[in-house]
Amino acid sequence: LDLQQREVVIIGAGPSGAIAGALLKRQGHDVLILERQRFPRFSIGESLLSHCLDFVEEAGMLEAVQAAAFQTKHGAAFGWGERYTEFDFRDKFTEGHGSTYQVQRADFDKLLADQAELQGVEIRYEEEIIAADFSSARPRLHARRNDGSEYHIEAAFVLDASGYGRVLPRLLDLEAPSSFPVRRAVFTHIEDRIDDPQFDRNKILITTHPELRDVWYWTIPFSNGRCSLGVVASAERYEGRPEDLDACLKEFVQEAPNLRRILKNAQWDTPARLIGGYSANVKSLHGPGFALLGNAAEFLDPVFSSGVTIAMRSSSMAAAVLHRQLSGEQVDWETEFAVPLKRGVDTFRTYVEGWYDCSFQDVIYYEHAQPEIRRMISSILAGYAWDEKNPYVAESRRRLRVLAELCRGDR
Ligand code: FAD
Repeated sequence: LDLQQREVVIIGAGPSGAIAGALLKRQGHDVLILERQRFPRFSIGESLLSHCLDFVEEAGMLEAVQAAAFQTKHGAAFGWGERYTEFDFRDKFTEGHGSTYQVQRADFDKLLADQAELQGVEIRYEEEIIAADFSSARPRLHARRNDGSEYHIEAAFVLDASGYGRVLPRLLDLEAPSSFPVRRAVFTHIEDRIDDPQFDRNKILITTHPELRDVWYWTIPFSNGRCSLGVVASAERYEGRPEDLDACLKEFVQEAPNLRRILKNAQWDTPARLIGGYSANVKSLHGPGFALLGNAAEFLDPVFSSGVTIAMRSSSMAAAVLHRQLSGEQVDWETEFAVPLKRGVDTFRTYVEGWYDCSFQDVIYYEHAQPEIRRMISSILAGYAWDEKNPYVAESRRRLRVLAELCRGDR
């Protein structure tokens, strides 16, 4: 087979691959991205957090994203029965971007990939990595083109940004079980025709099911009068419900009074889809000749829309370490990449666990919260989960427990 030589090869051209590629190219490295699909392609994960714009900016893509007319997002709203509360990301403890976007990922991901290409990153679409050999000093990947032809490619370093493809975790036996139970999401896009004055198109709306508090819905408005709408529940919550996904999603929506009201005129014009078992983990985030980015590594849960932000943060951190390594410096991927990356992931983990055991829901829906505490929570919801100056980051578990007790005692 043909054997090609490159400096850095990235598997996957999603947000983590495009950002990592651009950052390395900007540091003067030769970067090739191999992407299995042709863009634009559908992806779930449409509500961005503010912090991810820091990495879009670092990669020189902020102006292009701002010019793309995506729906502005200023925060997150939560509804549970008659309760309603909202967090404004412009009013938060940590400095940084306040507003962000809700994006059709097909368009957003293509825009980032095109920007990376404009900066000199080579992207080959419809080429899939099917095998990998990391036994020698230069890792070797086995790629297959859409026409069935194959070739080998050697690089100084490989970044796996393959998302749910999880290429290196599968090929190198790095998969580890997630600490989260298996949940499923059923979702669609609708023409929403929302005229409810309470509905704020500049926020994601997260709705808690009135009785089943581990079941929640997302409503993510786009700038074109459409919404992404989905429900997340564990397998047993789907038992006894219609097998037809549209009917199933509509039944869930009918059970939530706020959604029933908001979506009363909606046109359901797109067949619903199901995605399940998405929570995943790995034994290690790196090894000789490779590191794992974004969803190819750990994916927690969609409830706080942290996926793209964690993905881009991992790209930024990995690109910095890799640049130093390629420049001849000694680097330690564990202490300089894995450990600090996981710190923020663990912050999100605390609040995701608190969402499902309801302690964080009790905090969110508490009506008498102090403004300063809400600003600290707002920072985390905006994605600034690595800011150790925020006590709800630095001591997330203890702080959440104490706060939840306070809110519950005061009910
Ligand atoms: P991806 O975007 O998945 O990109 C990976 C790319 O790699 C793909 O284009 C794929 O084609 C390519 N690839 C795969 N295998 C190969 C191969 N063998 N060879 C070559 N290329 C390959 N995140 C948010 O930020 N906000 C949200 O609102 C949100 N909602 C979510 C809702 C649900 C139900 C779920 C499950 C997730 C949600 N997420 C959300 C998470 C989000 O989808 C991911 O975190 C994000 O897409 C990760 O980006 P990535 O670049 O790591 O991977």
